[in-house]
Amino acid sequence: MLSPQEALDLVLHTTNILPPRRVTIEDAWGLTLAEDILADGDCPPFRRAMMDGYAVRLSAAGQTLPIAGEIAAGSVWHGDIVDGMCLEILTGAPCPAGTEAVVPKEHVQRQAERVTLPESISRGQNIAAVGSECRQGERVLHAGMRISPMAVGTLASFGVAEVQVVPRPELVIISTGGEFAPHGEPLEPGQIRNSNGPMLRAMAREQGIDAPLQLQARDSLEEILRALDRVSGMDIILLTGGVSVGKYDLVPSALADYGAEEVFHGVNQKPGKPLFFAKKDRQLIFGLPGNPLSCHFGFHRYVAAAIRKMSGHAATVALHGALNQPLRSKGDRPQFIPARATGKDGAWQLDIVSAVSSADIFRGCAANCYVEVPLGDRTLEPGEQCSFTWLGRPPWDEP
Ligand code: AMP
Ligand code: MG
Repeated sequence: MLSPQEALDLVLHTTNILPPRRVTIEDAWGLTLAEDILADGDCPPFRRAMMDGYAVRLSAAGQTLPIAGEIAAGSVWHGDIVDGMCLEILTGAPCPAGTEAVVPKEHVQRQAERVTLPESISRGQNIAAVGSECRQGERVLHAGMRISPMAVGTLASFGVAEVQVVPRPELVIISTGGEFAPHGEPLEPGQIRNSNGPMLRAMAREQGIDAPLQLQARDSLEEILRALDRVSGMDIILLTGGVSVGKYDLVPSALADYGAEEVFHGVNQKPGKPLFFAKKDRQLIFGLPGNPLSCHFGFHRYVAAAIRKMSGHAATVALHGALNQPLRSKGDRPQFIPARATGKDGAWQLDIVSAVSSADIFRGCAANCYVEVPLGDRTLEPGEQCSFTWLGRPPWDEP
């Protein structure tokens, strides 16, 4: 059976980045930029006053001069600054020709319509020269970067209204099983509530994807196929339940009838051993086990990695932290355990949040990561290093 690393490698090998699309800059935040952005002109495009003050020539030092007028941001002064003259100027305004310095208002003494300037004025002070931030044609954003709020501002400042981006994949969730009580109804004997559907939708949202379409299919080939046929245009299909070896675990055969090609079935891991992964053309299909923790882990480790690659984002990396409690490692499968990582003095500490079984998610709610327990039959001591991966998006995963 595949190891968790081999399974992840296969998922990533099967996954391709989505073809780029044009969006308005209002919709670009969080997406991967698919083109280089070049400055459409010099920045700043004019000699810009950087302070509120007075536009003068150097000869004004120590002089008391009449104020010829005022120029605010957005307006233009038609005329030159000449010796013996000064002009009140506000931050962001273009300096008139002949301006040699902008003296901040805090450095002058003003009496009505006259102003006394300081003894020392230096050439170019508080004036941003044309193109001092960047030159026309210079690359200001590069393809492959994730579009942060600052990048959105940069696009706007260079007059870009639409950009080429890597879109996010479209994803649909199909919960399979005949045991679910209808939404909002009390449980009949033998029934449970569908928790995987809403949980997976929330996990997709953490990756920036809404998955408004939620389907349910009972354990029948026809119902599962009918659901699959409704969503054949989606980039990613998530099914939950029905991938194990039981009589009613029909997802693998339904997927074969649907025309999907199996990539793997089963990963040597706990939780989530029966994980099923298939593809049909460019479409990726994950059969996640029905047990809620297994389902959660399957999304966390494999589906999220595929979403990131499709969206052009870098893979998340595992970190290392020191165990705060002893941890028993046993069995023939690598285990992934919900835990809570906290930072202390630049190092991570790990508190295990034990789940009693793969069906148990409510204890896991205290966790913010999964710790990987290596194979082997021994007790890991407090202070020993373990690798872990953040739930959702790592805190520094911008934007
Ligand atoms: P299965 O993978 O279909 O064999 O289901 C394994 C276990 O998970 C069974 O106890 C199911 O009742 C439960 N289960 C399956 N699907 C869901 C779901 N959508 N929400 C909550 N529990 C589920
Ligand atoms: Mg089932």
